[in-house]
Amino acid sequence: MRSEDIHRPSEAAAFGGRWLNRFARLPEGFLERRSAVPVAAPALVMLNEPLAHFLGLDPEAMRSREGVEALAGNRPIAGSEPLAMAYAGHQFGVFVPSLGDGRALWLGEVEARDGLGYELHAKGTGPTRFARGGDGRASLGPMVREYLGCEAMAALGIPSTRALAVLQTGEAVRRMRGFEAGGILIRVARSHLRIGSFEYFAYRGDERALAVLLEHALACLDPDLIEAPDRALRFFERVMERTAALVAQWMAVGFIHGVMNTDNTALSGETIDFGPFGWLEAYDPATCYSSIDQHGRYAYGMQPTIAQWNLARLGECLLPLLSPIPEAAVERANAVIAAFPERYRQHWRERLCAKIGLPPDPTHEALGERLLAVLRAQEVDFTLAFRRLSRLGREASEADAAWLALFREQEAAFAWLCDWRQRLSAIESADPPRQMAMLAVNPAFVLRNHLAERAAREAAEQLEFGFFERLLRVLARPYEELPGEEDLYRPAAPQERVTVTFCGT
Ligand code: AMP
Ligand code: MG
Repeated sequence: MRSEDIHRPSEAAAFGGRWLNRFARLPEGFLERRSAVPVAAPALVMLNEPLAHFLGLDPEAMRSREGVEALAGNRPIAGSEPLAMAYAGHQFGVFVPSLGDGRALWLGEVEARDGLGYELHAKGTGPTRFARGGDGRASLGPMVREYLGCEAMAALGIPSTRALAVLQTGEAVRRMRGFEAGGILIRVARSHLRIGSFEYFAYRGDERALAVLLEHALACLDPDLIEAPDRALRFFERVMERTAALVAQWMAVGFIHGVMNTDNTALSGETIDFGPFGWLEAYDPATCYSSIDQHGRYAYGMQPTIAQWNLARLGECLLPLLSPIPEAAVERANAVIAAFPERYRQHWRERLCAKIGLPPDPTHEALGERLLAVLRAQEVDFTLAFRRLSRLGREASEADAAWLALFREQEAAFAWLCDWRQRLSAIESADPPRQMAMLAVNPAFVLRNHLAERAAREAAEQLEFGFFERLLRVLARPYEELPGEEDLYRPAAPQERVTVTFCGT
C-alpha cells in the first residue's frame, strides 16, 4: 500500500493543551503549510508521560488509537497547525540557501506549566517542499538514538530539545544499508529557530523578513528585550551567551554533537538535531565519530571554535538590523563575536573547576587542564576519571587505588593527585560536601556509543525495546550508580566499541 492511498480520517484527536502557535502566524514566505503523509501501520514505541504532563497534554489521549494515528500524522491533532519551516544553513562550511524541514513538520506551540511556549515537531512525516529529492522519512533506529540522546542531555541538566514520543510507521525506508523499519520522532523545543532561519532571508536580501523574524524570536525567547532600543544587538549578545554556556556544558560532560552546521544550531541555546552525536570514551580532543566528517571539523575539541564561527554567520545576517550605517553594524557584530572566546572560557573554567572540586580561578583551571593532558596521554576514560576522582579525600585512602588504576603510568597521575590535594588543603574544604558537589557534576552515566547503538539496532531490527527502556531508566539519573546496572557505567569493551556514528537520514 502506498502512503498516498491510506485513508486519512478528518476527525481530530484531542490532546488538550493551550496552543499558541506563534510561528504559524508568520507570513507565507517563512513556511509551507501542510499535513503529514499518512503511514501504513503506526504504533507507539515510547511516550514521555512526564513531559506530556509538563506540556499540559493528555498522555492517555495520546496512547489511544486515535491519538497514535494523530501522532503519526494519519489524522489531525486539535489545535495543531502543521507546517514545514524554511531555513538555510552552512553545512561543513558550505552555504546551502534552502534547507528547511525536508522530512519534518512543526506541529504547533503549547504553553507549558512553566508559562513558556514549547514547540512540537515531528520528524519522518513525509516529504515537504524542502525535501530536495529525499523520501521525507526517518528510520526507526536513528529516531530511537535521538530520543535517547536528547533525554540523556536533559537529564544531565543541559539545555536540549526533548523527546515526547517515538513511533513505528509500519513501513520500510530505503537507506544505504538496505531497507530499515520506518520511525517518527516527536520532539519538543522552546524554539526551533536556528541560525539558518536568519540565513535564509539574509541570503535573499529580505530585510523586512529579517525584522519580522527578529520580532518573533524576541517574543518567543527574549520578551524582555522587545522594547530595548538596541534590541538586535542585545539579542545577538543573548544568543552568543547561550551558545557559550551550552558548548561549555557539552565539553564538561564529553558530548560531541557531530554536525554543528548552522542549520543545527538553535538560537534558544538548546542542543538540537541529534544525528551522529556521541560521548567521549578515552579523553582526546580530536575525537570525531561522524561518518560524514572526514576532516574532523566537528571533533570534540573543535566545538568552541565552530560555535564562534557559526555565531559569525548569524552576525552577518543581523547586520541590517544592527545599524543603518554599514560600518557601525559591522563593528557591533564584531564586538559580540570577539567576546565569545572570553565568555566561553569563563563558562568552561567554572565547569572544569567544579569537576575537580575547586573554586573557579585560573590556577585551578590550569590544574584541571593538566589532568586532561594526563588523561589524553594515557587514553583514560573521561567520565570514569572524574567520577572516581569525586570519591577521593584530602588524605590518601583506599579509594585512591580505583582512580589510579585507570592510568597506565601511575606516576604522572600520582603527581597530579598530590598537587590537587595540596590545593584542597589550601582552600580548607571539608571532604563530604566537596565530594557531594563533585558527584553532582561528574556523571556516572553518559550515553556511550555502544549503548545507544545497541538500543537503536534492537529497536530497528527486532522491534525489541527492552534495552531502550532500560537505558531511559538509567539515563534519567546520571549522577547516581543504580544497583544492578554496573555494565552501563563502564567503557565499551574492545569488541563492543563503536567509533563511527551516522546521520541516519
Ligand atoms: P539533517 O542532516 O537531519 O540536519 O538534515 C539536513 C537537511 O536535509 C534538512 O533540510 C532536512 O530536512 C533534510 N533531510 C534529511 N533527511 C531527509 C530525508 N530523508 N528526506 C527529505 N529531506 C531530508
Ligand atoms: Mg538538521
